[in-house]
Amino acid sequence: GPTVGVFALQGDVREHLHALGELGVATLGVRRPEELAACDALVLPGGESTTMSKLAVTFGLLDPLRARIKEGMPVFGTCAGMILLADHVRDGIEGQQTLGGLDVTVRRNAFGRQVDSFEDDVEFAGLDETVHAVFIRAPWVEEVGEGVDVLARVGHGPAEGRIVAVRQGPLLATSFHPEVGRDTRIHRLFVDQVRAG
Ligand code: GLN
Repeated sequence: GPTVGVFALQGDVREHLHALGELGVATLGVRRPEELAACDALVLPGGESTTMSKLAVTFGLLDPLRARIKEGMPVFGTCAGMILLADHVRDGIEGQQTLGGLDVTVRRNAFGRQVDSFEDDVEFAGLDETVHAVFIRAPWVEEVGEGVDVLARVGHGPAEGRIVAVRQGPLLATSFHPEVGRDTRIHRLFVDQVRAG
């Protein structure tokens, strides 16, 4: 079966490895280009997108990652991972680089400093029951290109209607952290897609 890598230079790597392990898929922490080459798909975890992109440069992973994304490797990005997948970032640090591939514009730390973190139950396309979503200094998606499907929006409060999950072909991204907690349904959507080839 396929091997799903987790970008492991920074972020909540262990939580993703655990969620993927629950689904019975082979996993690999990715710190070096050789490890990326051994993967059929990749998870970009939550963490700090600016640190992650700098470390990707340092470890020689930036260009290989971009190349694999261009070739159509399935990638699932959560929070900082969503930012890394986005073609455009607002409120990034000066010169912030992303991997790109996902035709969206995200706003970093979008929910505001007063509400660094919050939780909400969100409806998620393809799932029968809502997902309990944990947002931690999360981005939201402000613009989506034509080929991008919106999978979830915030359902309540001041951020109501904001886009927090998208898919574009093999690329899946959430503003929140499905790796936190016991619910593996969103990882399963990703793994099913990887297994379907
Ligand atoms: N604010 C972080 C960033 O810009 C993302 C936070 C997270 O992944 N929980 O990368």
